[in-house]
Amino acid sequence: MSKTTLPDLPPGLAARPVDPRRGLPIPAVNERPDGTADFVSINGQTAMYLAIKGCCALCTRRMSGHVAFLGGPGSAEAGGYTDPPMHEACAEAALTLCPHIARQHARRASERRVPEGTTVPAGFAEAKPDEWVMVLTAGYRTGLVPAEGGGVVPIFLPAEYVRKRRFGYEGGVLVERVDS
Ligand SMILES: [Zn+2]
Repeated sequence: MSKTTLPDLPPGLAARPVDPRRGLPIPAVNERPDGTADFVSINGQTAMYLAIKGCCALCTRRMSGHVAFLGGPGSAEAGGYTDPPMHEACAEAALTLCPHIARQHARRASERRVPEGTTVPAGFAEAKPDEWVMVLTAGYRTGLVPAEGGGVVPIFLPAEYVRKRRFGYEGGVLVERVDS
């Protein structure tokens, strides 16, 4: 299998299998059982398993110290995430590389079919936020909430935030916003 040549990948992500079509490492929670990539859906079982073990959702390596959550301003305010915790460096890589996040006008949820085995929690809008917020925290709890169409889906509840980083689009490109 070919290795990615992308620069500055965290070692755990660099060790992940690469999606041949996009040339990007496949995050653990975006890997289908057959090994192919699904960059728009999160595998809830994998997400919960890794979070409970204290491992990064993207690279599967253990997390120590602060962990990162990535989502829109609404998630940061509500303190609940559908995306599981990850290393800060892996979250940075996702912001840079994830085809869904990096470009403002990439299409996503509205046009996709939800594959079997993946679910969207009831009441969670999937619209792409204008701004991404990365919160850093020392810990988190996990839970299950009702999913649209029945069943349950994992939810991740960060402890008190120790730091917040904001990213927004300028000219269609994602850049970090520094508070003055
Ligand atoms: Zn990681």
